[in-house]
Amino acid sequence: MKLDDFLSLDEQKRIVEAIAEAERMTSGEIRVHVTPTCDGDPLEQAREVFAQLEMYKTRQRNGILLFLAFESRKFAIVGDEGIDNVVPDDYWNSERDTLMGFLKRGEAARGIEGVIRSFGEKLKAHFPIEEDDVDELSNEISYAD
Ligand code: CA
Ligand code: CA
Repeated sequence: MKLDDFLSLDEQKRIVEAIAEAERMTSGEIRVHVTPTCDGDPLEQAREVFAQLEMYKTRQRNGILLFLAFESRKFAIVGDEGIDNVVPDDYWNSERDTLMGFLKRGEAARGIEGVIRSFGEKLKAHFPIEEDDVDELSNEISYAD
């Protein structure tokens, strides 16, 4: 499966916009990483990507990574300790399961945008936007080479 079969260019653009919009309400940072395949545990790989993208470099440790291995159909979410400490234990899994439902129906873009909005709401509740907000992590989708 090619990336554009999973997400069209237009949908990819909309996802970047959804991230920007969510981040207007919060100091938290959201990133999306897409890769064709994932062997093994997606959560483990997502944690590696989180480190590679240096997503821990936020002042309040409130970065969230959505990891999507579209060909392998494996997905994972990693929230840094600042946000992980304040959400319910099952929050990440429940968001992942919601997204999975959309993906199964072939509504990847809708599902991803929805989950980004939900991250935005969660982040906003705990890390509201501040006057001197900095975009600490790029809103662009990260693509595996
Ligand atoms: Ca920010
Ligand atoms: Ca950002």
